[in-house]
Amino acid sequence: MNIQMVDMKKQYDEIRSRLEPKVIEVLSGGYYIGGPELKAFEDKAASYIGVKHAIGCANGTDALQISMMALGLKRGDEVITTPFTFIATAETINILGLKPVFVDIKQDTYNIDPDLIEAVITNKTKAIIPVHLYGQASDMDKINKIAKKHKLFVIEDNCQGFGAKYKNKMLGSLSDIATISFYPAKNLGAAGDGGLMLTDHDELAAKVRMIANHGQNERYKHQVVGVNSRLDAIQAAILNIKLDFLDGWNEKRRTAAERYKKNLKDIAVVPFEHKDNYHIYHQFSIQVKKRDELQKFLSENKIPTAIHYPIPLHLQVAFEDLKLGKGSFPVSEKVAEGIISLPMHPHITNEEIDFISDTIKKFYK
Ligand SMILES: *Cc1c(COP(=O)(O)O)cnc(C)c1O
Repeated sequence: MNIQMVDMKKQYDEIRSRLEPKVIEVLSGGYYIGGPELKAFEDKAASYIGVKHAIGCANGTDALQISMMALGLKRGDEVITTPFTFIATAETINILGLKPVFVDIKQDTYNIDPDLIEAVITNKTKAIIPVHLYGQASDMDKINKIAKKHKLFVIEDNCQGFGAKYKNKMLGSLSDIATISFYPAKNLGAAGDGGLMLTDHDELAAKVRMIANHGQNERYKHQVVGVNSRLDAIQAAILNIKLDFLDGWNEKRRTAAERYKKNLKDIAVVPFEHKDNYHIYHQFSIQVKKRDELQKFLSENKIPTAIHYPIPLHLQVAFEDLKLGKGSFPVSEKVAEGIISLPMHPHITNEEIDFISDTIKKFYK
């Protein structure tokens, strides 16, 4: 057995007969930036999610930064988010001179706890960024209700949840603007970097497009200071084909997750799927005792694992200026100590899942 955390090669083998002629077509067509491939993918992604506008950019991190710029957030404004996420969520807040204000997570879904949000809202608060962690929706009804009451923007960080649903609605369609990452290991991954922003608002979409393109609305007429962030034509063409496979792949992840859960429910805290959610298991993460020893044991048995995430953001050196010590967000801190992600991808076999599960059981015997 050659177990991969994410098996990119098996995915490629499944779709190479469609990908390869398309890539050659784009290469020989000579249209590498923008053009018909980008337009076709943006249109298809927008209709897949059910929003009016999808705007490509270079990666999910840029998508977050550009979204906040387009919403007009200004130096000193506060943005509420979770400390239990990938650094990009808070990094982009900081880089724009905004202040990240963390709120602890719920212990079942690992997503921001809406009941703790109102207590940290001040007159500087401008936005909330819920992260749909591991591919499972945050509690969007409660979050949107609070946002409406306090006139805050909501930005979904949906970099892990493309294709996931909340109350039968697609994530990415439940806020002012949402961000997607096409990092290769995401559920929908490019052959390199890529990102997307999704919104229903015409004016916001136009602003996003302008900012991502050096702040120009006409060539060499710069209305605002922007950035250079593009989804390349070749990536758009690849993503356009892969999007046809996404729902099937996500179903396979769910089937794999159910098998893992059945195998492991007595020895680990297995992922909880809220009844309102359609979880797409970007990660299959469990909480265990003696996590680091287990990780070592699995590695000795040629089973790759990963920790998402070992240090909550408020305890990262990069955020020490916020002066949030240990104990500030107890749920995030506790989960960070015990969480471990197991191999998860659409092409994982029952045999592999059972071998991984049996090896974990062996460790605790
Ligand atoms: C992957 C990810 C990002 C950033 O995406 P990149 O494309 O790698 O820049 C942002 N937020 C979350 C939650 C992510 O998982």
